[in-house]
Formats: sequence, structure tokens, C-alpha cells
Amino acid sequence: MPNDIFVITEQIDGTFADISFEMVGKAKELAASWGGQTIAVVLGSGVSADAFASDSTLFINDPNLAQFNPEAYGKVIEALVQERSPRLVLFGWTATGMDLAAWLSARTGKPCVAYARDLCIENNALVVNSQVYGGKMIAEVAPEGDLAIVACVAGTFSTDAGRGSTPATSMPSPVALDELKVKFVEAIKPAGGDVDITAQEKLVSIGRGIGGKENIELAEELAEKLGAVVSASRPVVDAGWLPRTRQVGKSGLKVKPKLYLMLGISGAPEHLEGMKSAELIIAVNTDKKAPIFNVAHYGATADLFEVAEAMLELL
Ligand SMILES: Cc1cc2nc3c(=O)[nH]c(=O)nc-3n(C[C@H](O)[C@H](O)[C@H](O)COP(=O)(O)OP(=O)(O)OC[C@H]3O[C@@H](n4cnc5c(N)ncnc54)[C@H](O)[C@@H]3O)c2cc1C
Repeated sequence: MPNDIFVITEQIDGTFADISFEMVGKAKELAASWGGQTIAVVLGSGVSADAFASDSTLFINDPNLAQFNPEAYGKVIEALVQERSPRLVLFGWTATGMDLAAWLSARTGKPCVAYARDLCIENNALVVNSQVYGGKMIAEVAPEGDLAIVACVAGTFSTDAGRGSTPATSMPSPVALDELKVKFVEAIKPAGGDVDITAQEKLVSIGRGIGGKENIELAEELAEKLGAVVSASRPVVDAGWLPRTRQVGKSGLKVKPKLYLMLGISGAPEHLEGMKSAELIIAVNTDKKAPIFNVAHYGATADLFEVAEAMLELL
């Protein structure tokens, strides 16, 4: 059908990621002015797929899709797209969506817009806002042709409009999946033993601006005085200054504290993905153009060490 929109949803063990609801909600808004149907696409095995406010939901129910496998998922999505000719396919710009959007684009030769922050219909044509340079600039893109593939930054749209109970149509895989080159072996869950940052009401989160392991103590002292716990951006964890269990973001943990105090974090989309829903976001950064200031409720263009010392004194 012309202008139908596929939303490729994401789930682990039957729990759908918020990005799935965000995209269904956005797709409905687009479809209303573009004249197509919103079709949620669920890949998995034996999950309950009646979770969306889509016009319809296709549930490809196959044991080979029980866990994410880029080859299996890629082949199934490609076959569905060839068979049903949607005008737009939405993915999350997530660990799995990155694999699949690129796969579909390469296999179909159709344009893929990544890092999408907004989509709208102008003069009956799709226009996508895509963030570049870590969110410092927004590119306006109008994909040409009869199929557009767009991968959306998680945490950008509301989830509410996408939640619903449209009955899913369960169907077998449209392609054979018994001779895959990629095999799922094991899902390795993060090791426990550290504090659970997802359960904290207050987080003092440090980024590369903290400068070195020797300065972590200052953040810990401040956190203790605030009754908070220290979390971090990925570079801090990659450098080995804090354990992986403290990482917030796309490849870390999603947190939703009452207070998220950010010291020296630029606000890259991969970090925002993990903390955008925090109730109160306060950012301290020396760069007044840091993208985090577009998201923070309060911000200080200041040196984090001076702010931390001043706060400690006050506390
Ligand atoms: C697939 C993928 C997954 C990723 N997953 C994650 C993830 O889960 N979590 C994550 O965080 N990132 C993730 N990233 C990395 C992400 O793209 C960014 O590189 C990262 O978030 C940047 O971390 P940062 O803000 O600490 O560092 P930077 O971007 O280097 O920012 C440091 C900031 O500190 C400021 N600063 C420096 N000195 C001071 C000072 N004295 N006082 C105050 N401010 C100061 C600077 O102005 C700058 O804005 C991922 C990337 C990819 C490609």
C-alpha cells in the first residue's frame, strides 16, 4: 500500500523496549497526514505481541527469532519489505536497529537516515531531522525514492501514543531460517555485585571532563553528601575509572532518577538514551555549546571542579 509505515519493534524476553512505542506513536502521527497504515512488526518466538496502538501488527513467530540474530532478523525484514512494499521503515538507532537498518539499506539500495530526531510530512513528502556531530547540528533530509529507511534516536518521542492492544497477526517466517551463518550462542548479562544505579533516586554522573581516575574521589564525596551514587558516561568506564555497572546510556543502563547531576558530560545521543527521562537534569560543562544544555533543566557553564568544591562547602 502506498505510504504504509513499518515499525520494527524491539523486545527481549517478551518485554518491548520503549523505542518501539515511541516509533509507533510517531508513525501514527505521520500516517494521519500521509494516508498510510501504521504496521508494527514484531520478531520473536511465543511472545505476546498485542501491545501496540498500530493499525495492525505482524508477529513473525519463529524459534529462530527467539533471540536477536542480525542475519535472521535482517532476512525476515527484507522479505517482508519486498512482499508488502511499505513507504517507510522505522528502526530504533539502537544496538540492534543499527545492524538492521544498515542491512536493509544495503540489500535494497534505498536511503537510510540515521540519528533521526524528528520526522514530518511536508508537501506530501517525508522530511527527517537527523542530528550530526554528536547533536551539535541538525541536518534536514528529504529521502528520495519509493522506500525510506529511518533509524530514530531513542527517548525522542512520547511512548504513550504507541501503547495499545491491537491484536497481532501471528505468521511463520517468510524465509527459511535453518541454515544461518550467524548463530546465537549466549546472552551474557552484566555481572552483579555493585550498586544498582537504575534503582537510585539521585545520581552524580561524571563524564570525560572529570579528567582522570584520581578525581573520582571528589565526585564520590559529593555524591555521598547528596545521598546519591556516582554513575558515568562510557569514556569513564572504558578508561577503567569506574566499573561497567555504573555506565549510563545506549550500551549501558537506563536510569530514571529524581536528580541527575551531570559533571563534564557533553550529552551525546548515546548517553541521552539512558537518562533523558530523569525528573531533574542539572548539567555542569565548560562548553556553553555542549548539546546537554538543550536537554538539561538547569545548567551551569562552569568548571566542574569549582562547582563540586563549592557544593561540598555548602553541603
Ligand atoms: C554504539 C555506541 C554506543 C555508545 N554507548 C554509550 C553509552 O552507553 N553511554 C555513553 O555515555 N556513551 C556511549 N557512547 C559514546 C558516546 O557517543 C559519547 O562518545 C560519550 O557519551 C561521550 O562521553 P562524555 O560526554 O563523557 O565525553 P565528551 O563527549 O568528551 O565530553 C566531555 C565534556 O566535558 C566537558 N568538560 C571538560 N572539562 C571540563 C571541566 N573541567 N568542567 C566541566 N566540563 C568539562 C567538555 O566540554 C565536554 O563537553 C556510545 C557510542 C556508540 C557509537
